[in-house]
Amino acid sequence: MSRERLPTDRPLRPATRLIHEGESRSTFGEMSEALYLTSGYAYDTMEAAEARFDGSDPGYIYSRFSNPTVSTFERRMMALEGAEAARATASGMAAVTAAMLCQVKAGDHVVAAKALFGSCRYVVEDLLPRFGVASTLVDGADLEQWRAAARPETKAFFLESPTNPTLEVYDIEAIAKIAHQAGALLVVDNVFATPVLQRPLSLGADVVVYSATKHIDGQGRTLGGVVLSSEKFVTDHLQTFLRQTGPSLSPFNAWVLAKGLETLALRVEKMQANAAAIADLLADHPKVKRLVYCGRDDHPQAALVKKQMAGGGTLVAFTLDGSKAEAFRFGNALRIAKISNNLGDAKSILTHPATTTHQRLSPEARAELGITDAMLRLSVGLEDRDDLLEDVSIALKAV
Ligand SMILES: *Cc1c(COP(=O)(O)O)cnc(C)c1O
Repeated sequence: MSRERLPTDRPLRPATRLIHEGESRSTFGEMSEALYLTSGYAYDTMEAAEARFDGSDPGYIYSRFSNPTVSTFERRMMALEGAEAARATASGMAAVTAAMLCQVKAGDHVVAAKALFGSCRYVVEDLLPRFGVASTLVDGADLEQWRAAARPETKAFFLESPTNPTLEVYDIEAIAKIAHQAGALLVVDNVFATPVLQRPLSLGADVVVYSATKHIDGQGRTLGGVVLSSEKFVTDHLQTFLRQTGPSLSPFNAWVLAKGLETLALRVEKMQANAAAIADLLADHPKVKRLVYCGRDDHPQAALVKKQMAGGGTLVAFTLDGSKAEAFRFGNALRIAKISNNLGDAKSILTHPATTTHQRLSPEARAELGITDAMLRLSVGLEDRDDLLEDVSIALKAV
């Protein structure tokens, strides 16, 4: 096996590293990354096996905890994020669950923003307390609430920004400072921003998690996740947890995701340009009561977006003048954008959060988050911009 000989005398930019980082060619010299679809590894001798297990030979042992194709994906993610370490997982939820569970024990406490992806909220609100880890949910935009919620036994703060589906933005740098003053780590779910537009580690976060199912795959093929952090977090907490509990990413899916990373920057750029055009159309339309897009100057936290994100992203949230009936009529009239609950796909996707992703929440909890019956979330894809604009315009006429 030979490693790619990337220049080390000058810093390479993310778009280059996403294409070349983490290559490990076999003796055949293949151009496209080899797919090591193997669960285990054979050792030449008994002594070699012993050396692998005592750590004196750092090679692979078992694909539950390491695999060359999975490593390629992890090394590309590290390069993109500027992280010391990364561990891939079978899904985004496996990444979130591992990142939170690996660092707590009964008696500990975590603080999280209320506006979380539904399953993340389950982990914090229901799962952790069952094992004696208390949790407090706060309004993520209110720094005072983060400060007030911290206790001596607080181990972690957890948030996502921008939030799903309301696209609220939280001050990662300020919240990281509050976490650190309290002796806690800040974990950020960075799915909505993508690693191209926001790098939470550079803003002071300690751990970043992704559902690679979204923009990183970007073509709706596989589930996947990844946790990025310091080497110390992996050694102290994550490595043993993953190794012993086994939420491992399949080498096949890792290969798909590593190839997805090669085009990530390009895709996010184009999807974002499409999203900005759709946001402008919706903002000026009489049938739209409220439009939220992180890339517009009328976003409630536009200054914060400029400070911590390199663009407005690929998602648009809007509220029609009406109720569930109007939202459904709009969705049913779309011909190009699909009705689904995923996001970050090449195909545009419309979601009605109140009846799908956030159906599990009580009406009061939805109201508190600003998720009304007339609200829709559009994940803007890679289609031709004018076709998408026409699709949205026609659907608005049907409302
Ligand atoms: C989709 C998503 C997840 C969960 O990821 P899966 O790959 O579906 O398990 C977690 N957080 C956010 C913000 C998401 O959008």
